[in-house]
Amino acid sequence: MAAMLTTLAAGPVLAATCDVEIESNDAMQFNKSSIAVPASCKQFTVKLKHVGKLPKVAMGHNWVLSKATDVQGVATDGIPAGLDKAYVKHGDARVVAHTKVIGGGEADAVSFDVAKLKAGESYAWFCSFPGHASIMKGTLTLSK
Ligand code: ZN
Repeated sequence: MAAMLTTLAAGPVLAATCDVEIESNDAMQFNKSSIAVPASCKQFTVKLKHVGKLPKVAMGHNWVLSKATDVQGVATDGIPAGLDKAYVKHGDARVVAHTKVIGGGEADAVSFDVAKLKAGESYAWFCSFPGHASIMKGTLTLSK
C-alpha cells in the first residue's frame, strides 16, 4: 500500500480533458450549453459535428467563441462576411476562435490557446449562421 501511494505521488498529474465534442443538427440545436475549460490545458480543442442531413447553405452551423458581451456585435458583423468566410468578419479581434460552417454529415475542429482566456471573464459561443445565434448558443468558463 505504501509503495502504491508512492507511485501515485511520483506519477504524472492526471491529464485534464482538453477537448470537447459538440453536435449540431437539422433542428438548429447544439447538444451542449456549457463548456468548462481546465486552466491546466495549454490548448483546448472543440470538435463540431453536424449530425443532420441538410446542406450548409440551408442549415449551416459553426462554433464561434467570444466574450459574452461581444456576441451580439460579432454575430451582426459576421452576417455580411458570408458563408465562405464562416459568417465571421475578417480579422475580428473579438473572436477568440471559430470553426468553418459545416452542413449535414460534416465536421470541423478548432484549437485555441487557453492563455487567451481570462479568469473571471464570461465567454459565450454561438452559431453565426444568420438567424441561429439567438437559439444556438452556450457559455464557456475557465475552470481550475
Ligand atoms: Zn447554425
